[in-house]
Amino acid sequence: MDFDLTEQEKMYRDSLRDFLNKEFAPIVDKRDAQGPLTRKEAVDVMHKFRKLGIGLDPDSIRTLMGSPMIFGIMTEEVGRVWPSLLPLFGMGAIPAMFAPLASEDFKQKVMPRLESGDFIGCFAETESEAGCDTSKLKTTAKPDGDYYVVNGAKTWISNATVADTAFVGVTNTETGSQTFLLMEKEMSPWETNELHKIGWNASPTGEMFFEGCRVPKENEMGTMLANALKSGADMKEVLPVSDGFIKLLTTMEPFTAMMTLPRAGMCLAAVGIGQAALDASLTYARERVQFGRPIGKFQLVQQMLYEMAVAIETSRLLGYRALDAIVKGHPDARKFSCMAKVYAGEACVKATYNAIQIHGGMGLSTEMPLERYYRDARLMTIPDGTSEIMKLVTGYTLLGKGFSAYK
Ligand SMILES: Cc1cc2nc3c(=O)[nH]c(=O)nc-3n(C[C@H](O)[C@H](O)[C@H](O)COP(=O)(O)OP(=O)(O)OC[C@H]3O[C@@H](n4cnc5c(N)ncnc54)[C@H](O)[C@@H]3O)c2cc1C
Repeated sequence: MDFDLTEQEKMYRDSLRDFLNKEFAPIVDKRDAQGPLTRKEAVDVMHKFRKLGIGLDPDSIRTLMGSPMIFGIMTEEVGRVWPSLLPLFGMGAIPAMFAPLASEDFKQKVMPRLESGDFIGCFAETESEAGCDTSKLKTTAKPDGDYYVVNGAKTWISNATVADTAFVGVTNTETGSQTFLLMEKEMSPWETNELHKIGWNASPTGEMFFEGCRVPKENEMGTMLANALKSGADMKEVLPVSDGFIKLLTTMEPFTAMMTLPRAGMCLAAVGIGQAALDASLTYARERVQFGRPIGKFQLVQQMLYEMAVAIETSRLLGYRALDAIVKGHPDARKFSCMAKVYAGEACVKATYNAIQIHGGMGLSTEMPLERYYRDARLMTIPDGTSEIMKLVTGYTLLGKGFSAYK
């Protein structure tokens, strides 16, 4: 068993770490406190990452989404410095993957933006009455000639207020079945409203309102895939995903397979937040002197550091274990990604709590990043599957068919 990253993965991690330390670490605390990024700022972020070869354009996305380990390293490193940036890539990747498969007029509009790095996308499924239970979406798509007409509203959507492209969950009024439509804001205009939250403050999150939005039928998920495969291409040419991921897509429900990667990514983003809190605590414990000695010499402080270190390392192992299962297309990918997301989300809440404790009053001060780490950590147990739902999925995956708590 080899616990080391490959040389190539280490190089990727190190250059990304240097880039983040140079470009974002100096501005993160001030900028995050000012709230959601504007669209221009979000596009500037994409352009900066692009210089490093990280992006959503058809070439770069193959590296990011086609290699689960690279995706995991990216989420851990960005999580360590500025988790608010992650939805630009994680959620933006879903419409970006499908854009090359959409209708001609959609492609003409969106592909140049995607190529140049000016593209911001979102994945819109959650509704006010469809949170954990998304089995009955009220956003509808009514067939009308070559189009669907979409009506409804979404909530808690990452990038909603800055996105030009959206992958939107809908119920087909004719068949009653649920699917996703790829939409572009000028072609099918929608309204948005910003929502404010405890952490990830620079990440725009919002509501989306669709009223009579016309979307070409060719932009329905199943139709896009079927049209692309018709030309004889295989799934790997059509979607920028790994062989293992394709195995998951063909052996489990597509949505279940799709969620394995973001859940493993959320685990590693939590590892990044926890690691930043631990690094700051180690520095402070060495430097802060009370009772004539560094506080790091006190056993109770060392116990907190131990608890943080073991929780972060366990989370990291679970996260990379989940990624390894995704790489291999192993059925355990579902169980491990759920376990990893719950464990790491809750572990980083405890780790950032301890980090504030070790910093005493300074830990609560907005002059230090500890309070941001704590707020950013608190968010980790809800999006992409709440801890409760992740535990239930793990439960019935362990127990087998017939043991779903809510089906
Ligand atoms: C910052 C942020 C970003 C997000 N980004 C996106 C996005 O980009 N796209 C998108 O579509 N959605 C997004 N979401 C929505 C997110 O996926 C939902 O918030 C999440 O699924 C939970 O839904 P809810 O908030 O309605 O909670 P509810 O479903 O109302 O749940 C409330 C509580 O009840 C518990 N619960 C519910 N059902 C059960 C059960 N069967 N057994 C035990 N406990 C249960 C939950 O675990 C939770 O503790 C985001 C949310 C946040 C906060």
